[in-house]
Amino acid sequence: TIGMLAIDKNGDIAGACTTSGMGYKMAGRVGDSPIIGAGLFVDNEVGAATATGVGEEVVRTVGSFLIVELMRQGKSPQEACEEGVKRIMAKNKGRKDFQIGFIAINKKGETGGYCVHPGFSYRSYSEEGHFDKKPESFYQ
Ligand code: ASP
Repeated sequence: TIGMLAIDKNGDIAGACTTSGMGYKMAGRVGDSPIIGAGLFVDNEVGAATATGVGEEVVRTVGSFLIVELMRQGKSPQEACEEGVKRIMAKNKGRKDFQIGFIAINKKGETGGYCVHPGFSYRSYSEEGHFDKKPESFYQ
């Protein structure tokens, strides 16, 4: 999945995501990417989040919506992404056979990211330049 979150000079937020599609997926499978709230959620009053990885696990927690709601309650984008992954891992105790990554942005333009396994990365663009970010992960 490619997920994009943007904020403009007026503080208006937008987001989009594609899916690369899971390899060998079952005919008729719908991943998280086309389900608003799962693979992507934008609330212009709060922030936005998007996901990549095994969509079934993201759908079960309505992951991107969860992250935006956590930001609404006061968490930073980083804290909210960590909580989103931890919520999924609490339902999958000990499982190591899937990857999920989230990124998020809030109204201040602060960003965050977190993932299950190392290897997920994202790029941040602003007037100061662009920066590759390798977020911390649930497993090291
Ligand atoms: N999240 C996508 C899906 O489950 C897979 C991907 O990351 O491309 O369909």
